[in-house]
Amino acid sequence: MTSKIYILIGPPGAGKGTQAKNIANTKDFVLISTGDLLRENVEKRTELGQIAKSYMDKGEFVPIELVARIIKSNIEQNLGKSGFLFDGFPRDLSQNALLDEMLKEFNLDVDKVIYIDVKDEAILERLTNRRVCPKCKKVYHMKFNPPKKDELCDDCEVPLITRDDDKPDVIKNRLATYHKSTHPLVEHFEKGGKIIRINGEKSPKEVENQIIANI
Ligand code: ADP
Ligand code: AMP
Repeated sequence: MTSKIYILIGPPGAGKGTQAKNIANTKDFVLISTGDLLRENVEKRTELGQIAKSYMDKGEFVPIELVARIIKSNIEQNLGKSGFLFDGFPRDLSQNALLDEMLKEFNLDVDKVIYIDVKDEAILERLTNRRVCPKCKKVYHMKFNPPKKDELCDDCEVPLITRDDDKPDVIKNRLATYHKSTHPLVEHFEKGGKIIRINGEKSPKEVENQIIANI
């Protein structure tokens, strides 16, 4: 059986991480979130993580060779699974060419690209109030999706953290990079008839329902 390949795309703060974990669970897909995998390397202070951190702290792309390394090993470890869901990759046309090359090697192809559309005006408030569980990586928002108890993860009961790159200046940089480098991919996939456009400004549950109805 060939694995299905889905990609989540959208600006920082669109809700990709929030949705990715639920969709991957519901559909039993392997989730490949380059942001989470890079942060894991930063936490573990691996050589890759230490190089990546200097880029991530500024809101810049981590060099493609490093990202390629973590993606390739994740695909290889999970070959034969029913599907893969990519969150945060590809991030520009050259990363997309790399993905095509890697998928070809494994006889795979992209099925659909889920574009979560959220206007810039909503992004700053979403990201400055984002909190993340350092253990299970579940994402919260202090107003829209707060934890049940203080600032503790509902599942792990450990204190939630603020990401180092959720600072106003870094957010602005990430958003500008999204428009310059990542958004052109939406047009690229649209031409190929692969885009599923989702209104990301609905509630998280409604966004999830829109996505599940389309894949
Ligand atoms: P991304 O992975 O695209 O950067 P996240 O999933 O981390 O985005 O979400 C960014 C912030 O917005 C988090 O604080 C999250 O709780 C919140 N959020 C996610 N989806 C929604 C939504 N539909 N409505 C309001 N806030 C949301
Ligand atoms: P994210 O968790 O998707 O918001 O990503 C957080 C940060 O990790 C980004 O601002 C980049 O510095 C880095 N990153 C994540 N995915 C990639 C990628 N595909 N290519 C380069 N850098 C990435």
